Amino acid sequence: MEELDTATLRKYDSDYLWHPFTQMSEWEGADNLVITRGEGCYLVDSDGNRYLDGVAAIWTNVHGHCRAEINEAIKEQVDRLEHSTLLGLTNDRAAHLAKRLIDIAPAGLAKVFYSDNGSTAVEIGVKMAFQYQNQTGHPGRTKFIAFDNAYHGDTVGAMSVGGIDIYHEVYSPLLFPTIKAPCPYCYRCPLTEDRNPERCGMLCLKELERLMEAHQHELAGLVIEPAVQGAGGMIVQPPGFLKAVRELCDRYDILMIADEVAVGFGRTGAMFACEKAGVTPDIMALSKGISAGYLPLAATLTTRKVYDAFWGAYADLKTFFHGHTFTGNPIACAAALASLELFEKDRLLEALVPKIAYLGERLKALLDLPHVGDVRHEGMIGGIELVLDKEGRTPYPWKERVGVRVCLEARKHGLFLRPLGNIIVVFPPLAISMDELKILMDGIEASIKTITMDN
Ligand SMILES: *Cc1c(COP(=O)(O)O)cnc(C)c1O
Repeated sequence: MEELDTATLRKYDSDYLWHPFTQMSEWEGADNLVITRGEGCYLVDSDGNRYLDGVAAIWTNVHGHCRAEINEAIKEQVDRLEHSTLLGLTNDRAAHLAKRLIDIAPAGLAKVFYSDNGSTAVEIGVKMAFQYQNQTGHPGRTKFIAFDNAYHGDTVGAMSVGGIDIYHEVYSPLLFPTIKAPCPYCYRCPLTEDRNPERCGMLCLKELERLMEAHQHELAGLVIEPAVQGAGGMIVQPPGFLKAVRELCDRYDILMIADEVAVGFGRTGAMFACEKAGVTPDIMALSKGISAGYLPLAATLTTRKVYDAFWGAYADLKTFFHGHTFTGNPIACAAALASLELFEKDRLLEALVPKIAYLGERLKALLDLPHVGDVRHEGMIGGIELVLDKEGRTPYPWKERVGVRVCLEARKHGLFLRPLGNIIVVFPPLAISMDELKILMDGIEASIKTITMDN
C-alpha cells in the first residue's frame, strides 16, 4: 500500500474525515497526531514519536498493540474464512467462542447473542428484556430503570437508558422514556451532603427501591454499569452496591441488564465485574475488551430462563427478530479466542494484582495535590477529578477544559491520554509493565502539577 507523508495524511483527514465526539472547528487544520503503528503499550505516530497508550485505544486494548499471538490468529483466519453469516449458517469460530464465553461468564448465563459494538450489545439486551416480559405474560412491563450519569452507547435505544445530559439532551425527543435512579457518585452525592460514601450508597439504594416499588408493574428491566460508571467519570460504586441492586431486581421481578462493555475482560481484576461482586445478571453486554481491542465484536449473554421465553413454533412469533450483518464474524471471533488463550498463558489476572496495588497507591498520593479533589480506583481503572477549590469541591468551569489541557501536556511526557471533562482517566492496556505504569503515573502527576499550578 502507498505510504503517505504526515502533511498529506493530515490534509486528507481535515478534508474528508468527520471525527466522533469532536468539534471539528477545533480539529481541522490542527497538528493532530497520525498514528501509524502500535508496539506493545505504545502508539507510534507518522513522525516516529512514541506515546504510551494511557487509555488502551479507548478502553479496548488488553494484551498490548500488535501482540504476535493475536496477529497470527487473525492472519490464519483471514486465509481460511473472512466472513459468512449466522443467518442460516454457523461458523467454527463463532460457535467455539460462544462456548468459551459461557465457560468464563458468571454461573447461570447460558446463551450468547453476537453483535458488533457496545451500543448494540446493550440495545439487544433492552429489546430482549422487553420481549421477554411480553412473552411471559407481562405485556405491561415495558419500561426500564437506569441510572443518572450512566453511559450505554450512542444508538437511540442505548441513549434512552443513558444519563449524561450533554451527550443526549439534544436527542431527547427521539428517546423512549426511562425511570432514572440516582447514581452513587459519592464525591458529589445527589442525596447527602455529609460526604460519607456508605451513606450515599445506602440512600441511592433506598431511592432505587422506592422507584421499583412505585413502578413495579410497568418495569421490564434495570440497566447498570457494574462496579464503575465509565464515561460518566469513572465513578466507582460503594462495596455491596451491585449485589444489593441484584437483590432488589429479584424482589421486584425485574430483569437485570449488566453493561460490562467497559469493565469486562479483566479490567476490574476479575474476568467480569459481576463475578467479582458474586452476581449473575439476567443479561450481560460485552464488547470493548472482548477481541482485545482488535476488531469490532460484541456479545449479549443471557440465561436459559430468558432464552426459553423465546422458544416456540415459528407461527407463535416468539422469535427474537434482531440481527446484524457482521454478527459472529469469524475473524473477530478468532481474535477473541486468541485473546482468551493469552489470558491463561500470561496468567494475566494474577499479574494484575501488584499493578492494581501500585496504581492504587499512586492515585491515593495524588490527593495531596491542591487541585485533585477526588481519586477513584477499581482494578486497572483510575479517575482523577480536578477541582478549582478542594474544600468546597468546586469544579473547574467546564469551558476552561482543564482535563484536555492536562492530557495535551502529558504528550510532552510521551503519554496519550483522553479525559472525561475534568476527570483524568487512567485505563492502560492490562499488559502494561510495572515500569510503564510508573512512567504513566509520573507523567500524569507532572502534567497535573504544571497545568493546575497557576489556578
Ligand atoms: C463504550 C461503552 C458502550 C458503547 O460501546 P460502543 O462500542 O462505543 O458502541 C456502552 N457501554 C459502556 C459501559 C461503554 O463504556
